[in-house]
Amino acid sequence: MKKCFEKKFTLIELLVVIAIIAILAGMLMPALSQARARATGVKCCGNMKQVASAIQMYVGDYKDVLECYLYDPVASKESLIGDVLVNEGKYIPKEVMNCPNVRLGNGSLHWSSGILDCGKGGGDSFYLARVNEWGAFCQRDGYSQFFLMNRMRVPASTFIIGDTFIVSGGSMGYGFFFMNPQVVIENSAGAALHNEHMTLGYADGHVESNDLNYLKQEGFTKVCKQSQIIDL
Ligand SMILES: [Zn+2]
Repeated sequence: MKKCFEKKFTLIELLVVIAIIAILAGMLMPALSQARARATGVKCCGNMKQVASAIQMYVGDYKDVLECYLYDPVASKESLIGDVLVNEGKYIPKEVMNCPNVRLGNGSLHWSSGILDCGKGGGDSFYLARVNEWGAFCQRDGYSQFFLMNRMRVPASTFIIGDTFIVSGGSMGYGFFFMNPQVVIENSAGAALHNEHMTLGYADGHVESNDLNYLKQEGFTKVCKQSQIIDL
């Protein structure tokens, strides 16, 4: 009896099949990586929503004052709101402080939200340009920075936290970093980590995923994109 598939493939035929598979894989990979970026963007929004809600609870407990950064000169000790939200234990679990798209060289996650810097960490030009529209809500006391939430005029359009990335040196492992839309602070800047979108959390507790055009319109001039700080 004759076997049905007696003929063997030639080398050329095998190479053609391999080439077709490679082309198909090449077409699929960008779609897969985009889908992955979209998924991490959704998770990031979920995390930041929890942080924004925790901030709402915190300011409810502390007379509408958000202590962004507190420096105790006597003890020479600093604390950032991220530390407070996590360390007090009642506001937020540590894991949600991570952007799922930010990993250290060893693969571990680290905290990656930045709190809006109104001049404590860098320049105050971004904040001062918005004082009329957003309200004069920022107060600084020595090295410390506070937000008086009840002075905010438009909480729904006033972003106070966002994806932030440190491009080299240092560690973001304590609380929030400062995020200044126009000044690079300690090698870090607001970061477009999800298909060139940056997650921002607003004073009313909602979050948005915004693209580079939107960030530029909002006044961002320094943004981290693919581990590099670029000018918008
Ligand atoms: Zn993120």
